[in-house]
Amino acid sequence: MGRSCTEIEEWVEEEIQRPIEEWEERAEERCRRRRCNWWCLCCNKWFCWIEIILVKVIKWVTEIVKTLVTRVVCTAVNTILDLLGALWELILSIPIIGGIIRTVFNWVVEIIWRIISFPEFLASLAGFRPRKKMYFGVIIPVINDRALMEEADIQPWVDTAIEIYDRTCNIDLRFTGFCRTRVEPPGGSISVNCGAEGFFADWWLDGSWFQFIQIGCKFQSNWRRAIGHGGEITVVIVNNIENAVGCSMSATHNYVTVQVPPGPFVDTVAHEIGHACLLGHVTSTDGNNLMDTGGRSTLLPVLDNVQISAVRTSRHCVYF
Ligand SMILES: [Zn+2]
Repeated sequence: MGRSCTEIEEWVEEEIQRPIEEWEERAEERCRRRRCNWWCLCCNKWFCWIEIILVKVIKWVTEIVKTLVTRVVCTAVNTILDLLGALWELILSIPIIGGIIRTVFNWVVEIIWRIISFPEFLASLAGFRPRKKMYFGVIIPVINDRALMEEADIQPWVDTAIEIYDRTCNIDLRFTGFCRTRVEPPGGSISVNCGAEGFFADWWLDGSWFQFIQIGCKFQSNWRRAIGHGGEITVVIVNNIENAVGCSMSATHNYVTVQVPPGPFVDTVAHEIGHACLLGHVTSTDGNNLMDTGGRSTLLPVLDNVQISAVRTSRHCVYF
């Protein structure tokens, strides 16, 4: 079931079904306690029970509607959209031509969403920051039958990223899980150059590989990645990053990379997600900004007002 469908289902359960159930329990209790009026053969109790039967019918209808809408309609629509998204992403994974389209397209989408969300950016600067959501997942390549990293070793980076964006930006950073891919990278290992060379290398076979593994591993958000709204950020574990422990090509890419051990600082994933949301490097006075280069000075890095607002209005960050 698609991400949006699961969320609709959860919403119905929380906001509609649970209150009905609670009401039903209370009503049953009330009926049981009510004393019988013998002069009308307990008619007051019947009405009470009729009311409960009515609630049970409502409950039953809600369940059917919910199942029909989320499981059937929503899932069908989502699957079709994801297939179309996958097709689009497949075109984008063609070397050179796909790479160029990808770069231009991602920037156009980024600029459009930035313009749309500009009023929100100003509101956020003024302190108006209702809860938003952002999604990310991790892809672990399996090369020669060996995973580049174990899930348990990556978990602390995941937890740290969730904590940082929750604390600094009021963002519910949702982890969509680990995915092991057996699609081997071109040349048998994946090394990333995070400068201009890497930017252009991404148009060639390595970029195609990154694009391709996301289609299979993160199928459920293919269409969201394509339109840019709420598209998931994918963290890919790689063999090596030249002169760095993590890399992001900013808003050009939906994926960021982190290196296998001896590995990054525990907040590297959070730092790279910051880049994907258009944050650049800073040099803060206390060395504790999430976007400081190198390691941060504490385990609780911060973001400033402008950075927070930039992340909150990124195309990856949404209300629904
Ligand atoms: Zn950086």
